[in-house]
Amino acid sequence: MTQATASRTATASFKGLKCKECGAEYEPQALHVCEFCFGPLEVSYDFSELSRTITREQIESGPNSIWRYRSFLPVTSDDPIDVGTGMTPLVKSNRLARRLGLKHLYIKNDAVNMPTLSFKDRVVSVALTRARELGFTTVSCASTGNLANSTAAIATRAGLDCCVFIPSDLEAGKVMGTLIYGPTVMSVEGNYDQVNRLCSEVANTQGWGFVNINLRPYYSEGSKTLGYEVAEQLGWELPDHIVAPLASGSLFTKIYKGFQEFVQVGLVDQKDVRFSGAQAEGCSPIAQAFREGRDFIDPIKPNTIAKSIAIGNPADGVYALDIARKTNGNIESVTDAEIIDGIKLLAETEGIFTETAGGTTVAVLKKLVEAGKIDPDEKTVVYITGNGLKTQEAVQGYVGEPLTIEPKLDSFERALERSRTLERLDWQPVLV
Ligand SMILES: *Cc1c(COP(=O)(O)O)cnc(C)c1O
Ligand SMILES: [Zn+2]
Repeated sequence: MTQATASRTATASFKGLKCKECGAEYEPQALHVCEFCFGPLEVSYDFSELSRTITREQIESGPNSIWRYRSFLPVTSDDPIDVGTGMTPLVKSNRLARRLGLKHLYIKNDAVNMPTLSFKDRVVSVALTRARELGFTTVSCASTGNLANSTAAIATRAGLDCCVFIPSDLEAGKVMGTLIYGPTVMSVEGNYDQVNRLCSEVANTQGWGFVNINLRPYYSEGSKTLGYEVAEQLGWELPDHIVAPLASGSLFTKIYKGFQEFVQVGLVDQKDVRFSGAQAEGCSPIAQAFREGRDFIDPIKPNTIAKSIAIGNPADGVYALDIARKTNGNIESVTDAEIIDGIKLLAETEGIFTETAGGTTVAVLKKLVEAGKIDPDEKTVVYITGNGLKTQEAVQGYVGEPLTIEPKLDSFERALERSRTLERLDWQPVLV
């Protein structure tokens, strides 16, 4: 297929916006709430033509980024902002799998997503491409940390002005990882939910493109690529079970949507994928609702080290609940201590250093396996969404210390002997 035909198909399916609750339709503008019922708006597509034309080969020969799936994304331009986001490794786990007693475990490693080492680069690449199409010159966001990193970095690449809002208690790595790109950073004395409320007001007064507020319908579609990539990387097949972290619940619902769309256009066979979600106990409004059999969310005030997923009033919580229930999945929560153990477990078995959100997800994976809620034979994918170098405070004091020595051979040999003695003292049998 020639480039010209590819770009025609690329823009054919994206139609407009549609209310998830009442179905009211809107032009594809910067709008996220239904004017009739206040329900959330979602991008609508017509995949009928794409179903006839799209092939696996066509996607495989596309760019090595999320933009290989451009015809499934809500943009019209031929030159989307491509900063190499996406196509992160899907790693077949051996040592973690054996430790947990799973036979087919895969790790989707967005800890190395480009350019800012979290899955948020996906949603921001899509949102800023759309922001540019809609004529915005200043972009913004309400962030739990990673989103500010992504928005600031990708805005710079796109030549857009940027002002981001973060809660004032974020980890140093998240703050520095935003400031370095030179945006205006508003550090708000309040939690994420308060930051978000403030931003909704600013969005109405400043005319800025807020990636996760007035551009939210476009932004959230970027997470579908986490579904597409896993399907493609498994050899054009869906997994049996996925485990992913829940903050607003958006990412979780969009992995589901991504799988469904690939089935709909005939790229993969239908399969009943089970969806399990992970939260930190100190911020687990969705897990609580799941446990109590409720179909509404009781907002809570977050208190956990897993700050990147600490959203007390999750916008897509009810949709995430619904998906976990109808797919026969689960939503579980784990303590901060279990989160730290989860970070260490992944690092020590697979050589992947994830942040607190990933620690949460690994700890929930372990908890679900131990409770018999994941079958050892299921092809299970665990989504690691962020990088541990950004949340070093979380594991400070829970890892060893370097051995300080003089630049002399005997000093080294004494230190080595000491460390072996220490190792023998707290040696524990390890299964792998
Ligand atoms: C934002 C974030 C999430 C969850 O995002 P939602 O789509 O709001 O549920 C998960 N992991 C990391 C590292 C994040 O930054
Ligand atoms: Zn509506």
